[in-house]
This record gives sequence, C-alpha cells and structure tokens, in this order.
Amino acid sequence: MSGVKVRSLRFSYGKNIVLEDLSFEVDEGEILTILGPNGSGKTTLLKCLNRLLKPKGSVLIDSFEISKLNEKELAKLVGYVPQIHSPAFPYKVVDVVVSGRTPHLGLSIPTRKDYELAYDVLGRLGLSHLADKPYTQLSGGELRLVLIARALVQQPKVLLLDEPTSHLDLRNRVLVLKVLREIAREGIAVVMSEHDPNLASIFSDKVLLMCKGKIVGYGRVQDVLTRENIAKVYGVKVEIFERNGKRYMFPIF
Ligand code: ADP
Repeated sequence: MSGVKVRSLRFSYGKNIVLEDLSFEVDEGEILTILGPNGSGKTTLLKCLNRLLKPKGSVLIDSFEISKLNEKELAKLVGYVPQIHSPAFPYKVVDVVVSGRTPHLGLSIPTRKDYELAYDVLGRLGLSHLADKPYTQLSGGELRLVLIARALVQQPKVLLLDEPTSHLDLRNRVLVLKVLREIAREGIAVVMSEHDPNLASIFSDKVLLMCKGKIVGYGRVQDVLTRENIAKVYGVKVEIFERNGKRYMFPIF
C-alpha cells in the first residue's frame, strides 16, 4: 500500500498517556488534516509518524514499518515541516531549500539540477524574490513558506506538516493549501494539522478529529465535522452551511 497506515498507535511522555489507540490511513494523492484543541496530541502524533518520537503500535509508510528503516531510507520517504524552527545561521534561502535534497545526495554536493528544482519550488510558492536573502532575516510567514519549499524539494512519498498555515495571512494560507493540494495530486500523501476547520473542510479529503489523545471522528469532512462533534471537542456552537459540496462552519454567539 502507498501512503501511511497507522494501527493502534500509542504514545506516553513518561507516565502521561498522550495518544491512545489511534488507527487511520492516508493514501497517496490524499490530504488528511488533523484537527483538535490545543494539547490534544496533534504535534506528538506528527512526530510519531516521523519517528522523532517512538510510539507503540504500527506505522507503515509505503508498506515499510518505519521503526525498521535507517535514517536515510526514512528521509527519502517522509518530509516534515515542524511548527517551530529558529534559524541559527544566515544561510541563503535557496541553500536552505536545496538542503532538502540531502537524503538523495549521499556524500556529493548539490548539482545544478538540485538548484533548478529549488528555484522551481521557490517560484511555485511565490518566493523567487527571497532566493538570495539570508534566512535569518525572514518574517515568520516567509520562514514557514521556505521550510515548506525545503520539504517539497525532498520529493518525499509522505509529507507531514505541523500547522503549515500558522503565521500566514489569508492569501498565503490559501496559496500553501493549494500547493499542498497539487502536491497530493502528484502522488504524495499529505498529513497536516490545522486550526481552522473551514480551511480543513475546503482542502482535505479526510479529517481526523482529536481530543485528549483520542479520535473523536475520522473520515470524510461531512461525517466528522458535525455540529455535535465540534461542540463536543471545542465547546463551541456552530452553524453549518454547504456550498459546492464543501462545508463551512460559523460560531454562534
Ligand atoms: P497539540 O499539538 O494538539 O497542541 P501536543 O502534541 O503538543 O498537542 O501535546 C499533547 C500533550 O502532550 C499535552 O498535554 C502536552 O502538555 C504534552 N506534551 C507535549 N510535549 C511534551 C513533552 N516534550 N514532554 C511532556 N509532555 C509533553
């Protein structure tokens, strides 16, 4: 099977159980969005899928059990865009992006082709003008876009993104989600966390709604993002509208 298959995943920080018995699948070509209040375990889950944390249970990526892969094999399969990243050195943006090619390069240095790919991805994300800028001088939003570009040049089979739209204005949010939509169509499985249920509704094939480390709902937006589930998880009453097969939620006060 291509994509991600998770079975009975569990994780604890010491004695604090944070993820309980999670099972779900994301096929190549699909976007799965993880939703849930702060502290529900979204970041921890993404880190378990990237093996930054070692969970119990099974995580298969392209049918490989990730616990059995070496670092390089894993890096070729999985790209990860963390929520927080503090740049330490003033590398040029294009060099940061091209560093995403590392798993494919072995000990050799990046070639012209690698740089062409980096410029291509920067263009796709509307970042060409930043190519030569030191990445320590970027705004929070620009930095986020550059990290997404770096993950894209890695050409992984699975792309994990922790709140890829945070720090971004509405235009860039939509841009990023549109690019992720295109990337998914090219045959990548995308798993991301997102705070805005409306953006999740517009751009996802499936959603995973979490609360306190457990799955409250998993599947199609229409089945999971219901008034009842939103009230249960966020404690907020919403009105739901449908348009062109998409679902929109507005809080009611
Ligand atoms: P979310 O991404 O949904 O906000 P997190 O995965 O960051 O949730 O956190 C889930 C739970 O795990 C929270 O209760 C948080 O306090 C706890 N937690 C997160 N990181 C650590 C850590 N490094 N050590 C101990 N507990 C942690």
